[in-house]
This record gives sequence, C-alpha cells and structure tokens, in this order.
Amino acid sequence: MKEVRIKFIEKIKRTPTVTSFRFSPNEKLDFIPGQFLQLIFDENNRKNKDLNKYLSFSCSPEKPYIEVTKRLSESEFSHKLINLAVGDEILAQAPLGDIVFYPEMKNIAFLIGGIGITPVISILEYICDKNLNTDGLVFYSNRREEDIAFREELDLLRRIGRNIKIFYTITDCVPKDNACVFGFIDKNLIEEKTSDLTKRIVFIYGPPGMVATMKGLCLDLGCKEENVHVENFIGY
Ligand SMILES: Cc1cc2nc3c(=O)[nH]c(=O)nc-3n(C[C@H](O)[C@H](O)[C@H](O)COP(=O)(O)OP(=O)(O)OC[C@H]3O[C@@H](n4cnc5c(N)ncnc54)[C@H](O)[C@@H]3O)c2cc1C
Repeated sequence: MKEVRIKFIEKIKRTPTVTSFRFSPNEKLDFIPGQFLQLIFDENNRKNKDLNKYLSFSCSPEKPYIEVTKRLSESEFSHKLINLAVGDEILAQAPLGDIVFYPEMKNIAFLIGGIGITPVISILEYICDKNLNTDGLVFYSNRREEDIAFREELDLLRRIGRNIKIFYTITDCVPKDNACVFGFIDKNLIEEKTSDLTKRIVFIYGPPGMVATMKGLCLDLGCKEENVHVENFIGY
C-alpha cells in the first residue's frame, strides 16, 4: 500500500445519481481487480471520515487511468468530487482490500445491488483485457432501469467476454426492457438461471444490508461459506 497523488482527468455520468471520476496517477498504481482506495481530501486529519473515504476501483488495472465511481449525495465529500477541475491533484492511499479476483478462479458469480457494481466492472474489464475464459454470472439488482449503472459497458463486456452472463433485476416497477426481470435477486431467480452456484466463487459487494441478505441467500442455496467472498461498503 502506498500514497500517491492522482490528477483529475474527467468525469462520466453513469446514471442520474452515479458518476465516475478518472484520474492519472503521478506514479504507477498497481492493484488487483476488486480492491479499493481511500481518497484523502483532508490530509491534515487522516481520521476525518467525512472527507477521507473509500471507493472501489471501477476499471481494470490494465487501463492507463484509474477510475472510481460514487453514488453522489449532498455530503461534503460528494461536493468536493463533483467540483474537481481537470488537473486538480488529490492524495490517494491504495491498494486496499483482499476481496479480489485472480485468473485461477475459473467459475465465479456476483450478487450485486446498486453501487456494489463498481468492483465488478474492474473484474470484468480485467477478464476481457486479459482474454481469460472465466465463466462468470452477474446478478445485478436496481430499483429502476435508469438506475442501472454501466449498462452499456456491461452489455459490451458480456459480448466480448466469451462466458460472461448478466441478469438485470428491477425491484420497483415492471421493466419495459425485456432484458430485465422484475423482482429481487432470490432463490427462484438464481435456480432458474444457474444450477451450479455452489461450485462457483461468489462475490458480494455493496451496502451492508444488501451484502447480509445476499450472503444468507448463498448459504441457503448450499454455498460453502469459504466460497462466498463479501465486501461491505461501510458508510451506506
Ligand atoms: C471497501 C469500501 C468500498 C466502497 N466503494 C464504494 C464505491 O465504489 N462507490 C461508492 O459510492 N461508495 C463506496 N463506498 C462507500 C463510501 O466510502 C461512502 O461511505 C459512501 O459513498 C457514502 O458517502 P457520502 O459522502 O455520500 O455519504 P454521507 O452522507 O457522508 O454518509 C452516509 C451515511 O453513512 C454514515 N457514514 C459515513 N461514513 C461512515 C463510516 N466510515 N463508517 C460508518 N458510517 C459512516 C454517515 O453518518 C451517514 O449516515 C465504499 C466503502 C467501502 C468501505
């Protein structure tokens, strides 16, 4: 882990409430897909949790930039991010976290809600960049179709990744798009789409409530606890 100054390059709006921020690091920043960094706006008080926050990498380590993606709120941290000007430098501490993907993991699945998709993008991009033949299933739940972050990128990664399947679920209204299923990620949906969840490494990232529910579901479905890897996005 090290501290690196990173230079803001651009922002990309993903949904009405989710935006990605791209940076160029002043020196090479290695990380493993699935890891996160800490963005430090208050360098004088490292314990300031309001201004120094954790965000997952939302790009492959193979990219020439680093990207993080934030569900924006009215917090001071969100405002500081949104108000970055091209060329502004901030401090980042990275890499952090051990809920990561390795190429040896041949069969994987993701049970994801909302903003938990960020490390999944890093992993899927990496699988495509490295041309791995990983067999991956992504169950990705959102309230409304317009809340699906990275929809275009996911559909593209699904086309490039030979063995990547993505199932979108919408919980708050019947989706117009027939690529999306109405309802929550539950036992019925998983059993309808796959018969081998218990043979996969399952990754669950996101807000703690969602993570706990999805982990319970995996254990109910017979997954071994050691095969279920969870990362709580504490702070939601
Ligand atoms: C490993 C990890 C990865 C994450 N990845 C992402 C990501 O990719 N994208 C993303 O949007 N968010 C991610 N988060 C969450 C992120 O760090 C922020 O906590 C979250 O985005 C809310 O920040 P805010 O400024 O919008 O909300 P705020 O308005 O500051 O906080 C929302 C609520 O959470 C509480 N809270 C804030 N910080 C903490 C804390 N450290 N501990 C306990 N309670 C707290 C506040 O009191 C408030 O009630 C991640 C968190 C972790 C730990």
